[in-house]
Amino acid sequence: PTLTSEDVLHKAREYNVKFIRLQFTDIFGVLKNIAITVEELPRALEGRVMFDSSVIEGFVQNRESDIYLLPDPATFVIFPWRPREGAVARLICDVLTPQGEPYGACSRAALKRVLARAKEMDLEFRVGAQIEFFLFHTDAQGKPTVITHDRAGYCDLTPVDLGENARRDMVLTLQEMGLDVSSSHHEIAPGQHEIFLKEDDALTVADSIATFKFVVRTIAQRHGLHASFMPRPLARYNGSGMHLHQFLWRDGENAFYDPAGEHQLSELAYRYIAGLITHAGALTAITNPLVNSYKRLIPTDLAPVLAAWSEENRSTMIRVPAQRQEGTRIVLRSPDPTANPYLALAASLAAGLDGIEHGLVPGAPLSENHAPVRELIRRIGLPRHLADALRALAGDAVIQNALGREITARFLEAKEDEWERYQAEVHQWELDEYLTNF
Ligand code: GLU
Ligand code: MG
Repeated sequence: PTLTSEDVLHKAREYNVKFIRLQFTDIFGVLKNIAITVEELPRALEGRVMFDSSVIEGFVQNRESDIYLLPDPATFVIFPWRPREGAVARLICDVLTPQGEPYGACSRAALKRVLARAKEMDLEFRVGAQIEFFLFHTDAQGKPTVITHDRAGYCDLTPVDLGENARRDMVLTLQEMGLDVSSSHHEIAPGQHEIFLKEDDALTVADSIATFKFVVRTIAQRHGLHASFMPRPLARYNGSGMHLHQFLWRDGENAFYDPAGEHQLSELAYRYIAGLITHAGALTAITNPLVNSYKRLIPTDLAPVLAAWSEENRSTMIRVPAQRQEGTRIVLRSPDPTANPYLALAASLAAGLDGIEHGLVPGAPLSENHAPVRELIRRIGLPRHLADALRALAGDAVIQNALGREITARFLEAKEDEWERYQAEVHQWELDEYLTNF
C-alpha cells in the first residue's frame, strides 16, 4: 500500500524519527541528500524545501539556482542501521523549479516522462536488476584498496571470508527497507558479489537501485570493507555489470509473450528488441558512462560487445532467457552499475518504444555457430570507448529526447571533458608496450 504524506508524518512520530534525509540522484547517478529535522518535515512534504543548485555537480551552470525538493511519500523508509532512539529516515524526491515545474536536470522526472508515454500506449514497464560489485579491504588509514582476501568462487557454498557475512547483512538490510531481493551469490572474480532485485514497476526499481548502492556501501563499511561499483577494477578479472531484466505488460498480461510467435515471442517483443539495437550506440553512453566502463565491454569476459540479441550467447547486448509466459523478458546485459538508473531505464524504454512505434524488425538472433567475434565487432560492435558512445548520443534524437535537452547537454559536456582528461594521460601500458620498441 502506498504511503501518503499523512502516513509519513504519522510514522515519523510513531518511530521517533529525528532526522530525514531528502534524497535525489544527480545526472551522473550520484545520490545526493539534504538532511532536515523532523520539525521541517511537514514543510518538506509540501515541496517547500529550497536549496541552491549551484552546490550540486550535475545541476550547475543553470540560470535558476533555486530548486525545490518534492518528496515522494511512497519512498519513506527508516534506516535500519541507525539507533532506535533518534531514528533517521529518508524520502526520495523529485526536483522542481520555483514555479513547481519538473526541473530540467531531474533524472527521475525524465524517467517519469517516458513512463507516461508508455502508459499512453497501454504499456507498463517492469524491471528487475542483477547488480554486481566488489568488496575490497581497506588499508590502515581506512582507504579502499583493490585487495580481497577472498578465495571463494562462483556461487560457493561455504562462507570463506568477511564478504559473505557482509553480503548477508546487506540482503537483510535491503529487505528490512522494503526492497525485494530475489537472490544473491558470489560472482566469478575474487571479492565479487551479485544481488538480484526482483522485478517491479520501473520507477520503484530505479529508486531501489539508487538506494541499493548506498546501502551496500554503508553496510560494507560497517564490516570494514569497501564496496565498489567500478565497472572493471581488476585488469585480470571480469568486471561488474548491472543486467536489466525488462518486461512490458498490457492489460494484465506479459506483452512480450505470444505462444504462437516465433520463439514464443510477440511482435511487440521483436520491435522492442529492434529499438534497443537501433539505438545501441547512444544507449551505451548512458548505460556505460565511464572511461572505465569500456574496459568491461571486451570480448572475453561475459560482458557484451555486440549490438545484437541471442538466447544463449553472452557477447550480445540483449539476451532473451528461456522463461516464457509471465516470465518472458528481455535482459539488457550491457549496463554497468555506475549508470544513473533513472536515465538508463528512461533511455532503454524510449529506444524500445521507438522500435514499437516504427515497427522496427531485428535481425536473427546470434546463433552458436556465428562468425568470429572480432569480425562481428567490426560490423555490429557496441561502442568501444566513451568517445565513441558520446558521438552516437550526439547524433541520436530519440535518446536525447528521452533525457531532455538539459540533461543531454550537460551530460555530453561533462563526459567529453572526462574523455579528454583521460586521453591527455599516458598510461603505464603504453610505456611498457612502446617506449623501447619505437
Ligand atoms: N560480470 C559479467 C558482466 O560484466 C556478467 C557475468 C554474469 O553473467 O553473471 O556483465
Ligand atoms: Mg552475474
